[in-house]
Amino acid sequence: MRAMVLEAPGRPLVATDLPRPEPEDGQVLLRVRACGVCRTDLHLLDGEVDVPHPPRVLGHQIVGEVVEGAGRFDPGARVGVPWLGWTDGTCRFCTSGRENLCVHARFTGRDIDGGFAEYAAADPRFCFPIPDDYPDLQAAPLLCAGLIGYRALRLAGDGERLGLYGFGAAAHIICQVAVSQGRRVFAFTSPGDEPTQAFARELGAEWAGDSTVDPPEPLDASLIFAPVGPLVTTALGVTDRGGVVVCAGIHMSDIPSFPYELLWEERVVRSVANLTREDGREFLAVAPRVPVHTEVTMYPLERANDALEDLRAGRFRGAAVIVPPGSAA
Ligand SMILES: [Zn+2]
Ligand SMILES: [Zn+2]
Repeated sequence: MRAMVLEAPGRPLVATDLPRPEPEDGQVLLRVRACGVCRTDLHLLDGEVDVPHPPRVLGHQIVGEVVEGAGRFDPGARVGVPWLGWTDGTCRFCTSGRENLCVHARFTGRDIDGGFAEYAAADPRFCFPIPDDYPDLQAAPLLCAGLIGYRALRLAGDGERLGLYGFGAAAHIICQVAVSQGRRVFAFTSPGDEPTQAFARELGAEWAGDSTVDPPEPLDASLIFAPVGPLVTTALGVTDRGGVVVCAGIHMSDIPSFPYELLWEERVVRSVANLTREDGREFLAVAPRVPVHTEVTMYPLERANDALEDLRAGRFRGAAVIVPPGSAA
């Protein structure tokens, strides 16, 4: 099968012919129909997040069709494979409803070969049925951008005035969810990125502007999706008393030191790591009810490097999705 492989960090992915994966330990074999591209893939590519055992096939937002069934899924079923690929089920985090923090967790497209390929093997206990309302391409970004974005939104609390820093794949989904919950969304982009600010307004943001500009009123919560540490102090500076700033990415540049008064009055800064299967079930039930519409740009598998570089440069709006040759997506 064709696959785009990370051989070493700092180098582009390499188009490679690999044997079709052999499912083991109850895994299902999936024909990949589409696979979303995530900011985390850039961090893996750049070596900011470690890939323990390269070579590795990246891609952790897989929409696949079951070829060889096992467990809960029959052949032909359409399933989604997220970033959380396996947990031990026994550590103190797994046994307290926090499998996202499992000390032995294995992640799709980092520890387990992912979906930038024609086939992938996955543990069906960690796969989700894809809601019927979503075609393959539109479903793919739900599996990380949507799902971990949703976890970040939940952990931000119930505040009405919500800031979104970095309006990419995750924010364009979470904006729609937040508006449907009756929240008021304030979207921040790189300075001067007017097309993305217009996109945020189209999706229901009440205000959109440069991240260097103060919003018209203080915010109750902010989600930071851009991997830019100084945004933490920027966001804190416009957060009301008791508000929350959630860092929603897996990697961020250093956060500058800041005066205590930015944190004082019970403001909270926290991160969000990975997902639990419960997050997935909940979000995939919520998305069709909103309903969330995902805007996607399709790239053939062989152009995965272009998708990654276009993500880095902000050349598309919404999410990039990779489609292998012969996929019906
Ligand atoms: Zn991701
Ligand atoms: Zn565990």
